[in-house]
Amino acid sequence: MNNHPVLRAPGFLYRDQELHCERVPLHELAAQFGTPLYVYSATTIRERFRAFRRAFGRARHTICYSVKANSNLAVLRLLQRLGAGFDVVSGGELARMLKVDRRAAEDVVFSGVGKTADEIAAGLRAGILMFNVESESELAVLARCAARARKKARVALRVNPHIETETHPYISTGLREHKFGVAIEQARTLYARIREENYLDPAGISVHIGSQITDMEPFRQAMLRVAELVRQLAADGHRIRYIDAGGGLGISYTGEDDFPARAQAYAQAVLAPLRGLKIHLLLEPGRALVGPAGALLTRVLYIKSNDHKRFVVVDAGMNDLVRPVLYAAYHEIVPVAHRDGVRRAEVDIVGPVCETGDFLARDRQMPMLSEGELLAVLDAGAYGMSLASNYNTRGRPAEVMVEGAKARLIRRRETAADMMRGERK
Ligand SMILES: *Cc1c(COP(=O)(O)O)cnc(C)c1O
Repeated sequence: MNNHPVLRAPGFLYRDQELHCERVPLHELAAQFGTPLYVYSATTIRERFRAFRRAFGRARHTICYSVKANSNLAVLRLLQRLGAGFDVVSGGELARMLKVDRRAAEDVVFSGVGKTADEIAAGLRAGILMFNVESESELAVLARCAARARKKARVALRVNPHIETETHPYISTGLREHKFGVAIEQARTLYARIREENYLDPAGISVHIGSQITDMEPFRQAMLRVAELVRQLAADGHRIRYIDAGGGLGISYTGEDDFPARAQAYAQAVLAPLRGLKIHLLLEPGRALVGPAGALLTRVLYIKSNDHKRFVVVDAGMNDLVRPVLYAAYHEIVPVAHRDGVRRAEVDIVGPVCETGDFLARDRQMPMLSEGELLAVLDAGAYGMSLASNYNTRGRPAEVMVEGAKARLIRRRETAADMMRGERK
């Protein structure tokens, strides 16, 4: 029984030829809750959070989990109990945090290039830690909202450090041509403006250079530029207390993932350029904490051949997991019932949605599959459910959190009635 593929996701492993999440057999979850189904390992999230925190050791820091990676309330609650802060990018995400715990707002940073005045006002009311401001115009709106609320807003400018990253173009954010942040050369002028405002406190600097970055050098380069800016601003008479290094630490979708080592290397890259600065560091990991903690369970509906191509039609589609078509992302897909030594064949694994882009894998070597069997799409804990849609009026999947031998439904499957709520005929 030892020919099982080694799965990197530590929460997902074969026992007696059956894929489990922690101690729960996945076929039992599929029988109980149906498919497609997102399954998360609480232990994996907890271990990754702790490894990340350990990597930053005694450096003064707060880990502000990026809510958009996976915004289920149970995931947020779990991380909040571990001591996480949060990075939100909308009024909706802020509302989630307030639902989890009113006091959680104290450790919330608000990012995003298009905050509305209403969203800003909500952030002020909640008393969040800091606004990461992305333009001069947003600064003016924030100043107006803060004055009206008579609340001083802590501000970090999100600077664009012009750093190249080797990631998918849609998730690279640190170049001049991207819509994010303000050019780092403009920062000194803008901090001078912030200081003139009675209700703005120029507290920090933030950067976020992109997502799924596995080379540590770009992080180091970005921090070198930020450290230089902090020194320039100090010379101008500003005292910057917070540096927000953003998120972006990548995970391995294909191979071994020694996360503690990876987190250490990342912490090194971020911390080394900041040596000697008296600042509180904020970090905004999303994917790195939750990606490998989740799998999408799906059932094979049909197997068909057109010409020489073989298609495995499953019940999960691009509306459930859009990453393959949106980012050309690779997800390992494995049968829940493992058997040794079976023949393999090249197949496309496709969903039921009426789009050619509706695939989970293309030209993939898979063991011979049969109709009705269960597959697990691994490393789907980040940007899976949070990007799910109702396209084709398909209800979004249910979500289950597993801890040890216990499984808990943390979001029920969406029904047709849920989807039509709010519409009028
Ligand atoms: C998306 C995002 C993150 C999280 O990115 P990951 O790659 O998931 O770590 C952090 N900060 C900001 C501003 C973001 O937009």
